[in-house]
Amino acid sequence: MGQPTLDTVAPPDDAVPRTDDDVVAPLATSADAPSTEAGLAELVDAVDRLVNAAPARALEAGVRALEVADAAGDVAARLRVRYFMGWSHHLLSQDHAALEAMEEAIELARATGDRAWEGRVLSGLGAVHSGFGDNATGIEYVEESLEVRREIGDQRGVAASLHNLGVTFQEMGLFPERAREVLHEAQAMFAGLDDHQGRCASLLHLAALDLSTHDELAGTDPPGAEAAAIMALSTARTAAELVGHPELADNHRLQADALLTLARALIAAGELAEAAEAIEAAAGPGEVVDSTQFRLEIAHTRGRLRRAQGDLAGAVVELERGLDLGEAMLRDYERVGLLAALVTVHEEQGDHVRALAAHRRLHEATLRQRDELAERRARTINARLDVERARVETEIERLRSEQLERANRELEHHASHDPLTGLVNRRGFDAALAELTHDPEGRLTCIVGDLDAFKAVNDTYSHLVGDEVLRRVARIVTATVRSTDLVARIGGEELAVLVPGGDTAAAAALAERVRAAIASYDWSTVAPDLAITISLGVATRTGGESPYELHARADELLYAAKHAGRNRAMCCSGT
Ligand code: GH3
Ligand code: MG
Ligand code: MG
Repeated sequence: MGQPTLDTVAPPDDAVPRTDDDVVAPLATSADAPSTEAGLAELVDAVDRLVNAAPARALEAGVRALEVADAAGDVAARLRVRYFMGWSHHLLSQDHAALEAMEEAIELARATGDRAWEGRVLSGLGAVHSGFGDNATGIEYVEESLEVRREIGDQRGVAASLHNLGVTFQEMGLFPERAREVLHEAQAMFAGLDDHQGRCASLLHLAALDLSTHDELAGTDPPGAEAAAIMALSTARTAAELVGHPELADNHRLQADALLTLARALIAAGELAEAAEAIEAAAGPGEVVDSTQFRLEIAHTRGRLRRAQGDLAGAVVELERGLDLGEAMLRDYERVGLLAALVTVHEEQGDHVRALAAHRRLHEATLRQRDELAERRARTINARLDVERARVETEIERLRSEQLERANRELEHHASHDPLTGLVNRRGFDAALAELTHDPEGRLTCIVGDLDAFKAVNDTYSHLVGDEVLRRVARIVTATVRSTDLVARIGGEELAVLVPGGDTAAAAALAERVRAAIASYDWSTVAPDLAITISLGVATRTGGESPYELHARADELLYAAKHAGRNRAMCCSGT
């Protein structure tokens, strides 16, 4: 059995070092003037400070802080408050509410790309799952958190996550050596960072590990048990000293934890009078200490003390008192710890009937704990599968729409382009011509060209050579015109160039350059003795001429060029 007394103590993740003497005053002030940004920051700070001192009040303050954060549209503030509320719920054994708050916090951290908070909330999520008794999921989250925090070089965060990992291993009870190793590492890191709170928390868990060893060896290996008790006491005393640091003055939870652990170590070491003092000091006033969880731990520790004092009946009274404490509010694994102690005490009393009855209750609680755990785990796995499924579906949807877009673009391209030359086709040419003549006053020159005696090229050299000639002509024309001019293949061996603007002379010069470029090209690279020329007609649009009229006029001029002997450009401005 683990150590429910300390196991339920949440790690210090990741409260800031406390410097304020009064945890209430700043809350009151900021609540009065919450409308300013500074007011909101103060409010969030106050929630943070209250988590360890008074989690129930942290929740109340959290609700108010959320209202202010939402009114200000401050997502970062909402994220922080939800995280602190998650911790508060966790400390109050409200595991479902804790999970809800932490899950919202992790979503917000991821949505805002806040890696530092992602690491912090992941660690919190780990603790919340451990609160459910689902340590396996808890470890997964804490390890994920470690990864994030190592990646961004967050030293304090790494220490806090290591601490949480150690606590979870400790709770599992299966890997005490691993727990000790990780908690030692965390403790050393905290010490290096001068983080008294973190170091103190890690030391308390290390002491609890020694106390577990002590309990295990008590019956079989008395010298070993004694050595473990001495170790535990030394560690607990160091932690108790640290907790006296002014920085930790308002961390009532840690103070109570330290006193209870010290009390347990004192009991194990046989220092019963001092142990009684420590328990009473831990049970002092304060909301934290008044929580069900702490009253239970105090009852458990008092039970230990009575048993060590030889007062078995008194031990039974204390343990039963712990079990009576809000039956419904107890986590089953907390109940299991108390019941196991009760069985032992009844056995020592020689009261086998009551020992058996307690054992039956222990058995039931263990079964229920196992069922709950299985259900919890199934739910977690399902939730993760849902998230994964949603991610995959989104990805598929994205790929699908990307594919569709590409296909559409290709279709569009195919519809308006010629596959042989890559030039705009007749359809694209008509559309461009209509577009460019939309404005009745728009000036435009249309050049049409037709290869001379192209039929003979096909007949003499083959259709394949004819195709290659068409491809090269397309390249030559495209290279000759400006990028703002549009080159189209409007028929078998007919090309057209649309030149925006009404400069007739420039257009005529361009047509001549095209003609010369084709005529002077070294066509022997395509076929021996091949020669290619083109005839062109150049028409510049005037006064609201329709696209058809302009094209027809260019065609007439091309026909005239053919008639005049081919390999020439005929030009005439509109009439
Ligand atoms: P001209 O224009 O100088 O009067 O003589 P032409 O021989 O070019 O006249 P015509 O319009 O009769 O011939 C055009 C030829 O272009 C007919 C056809 O075989 C060829 N042609 C049309 N499209 C293609 C094509 O995609 N590939 C090839 N290789 N030839 C084509
Ligand atoms: Mg021709
Ligand atoms: Mg032709």
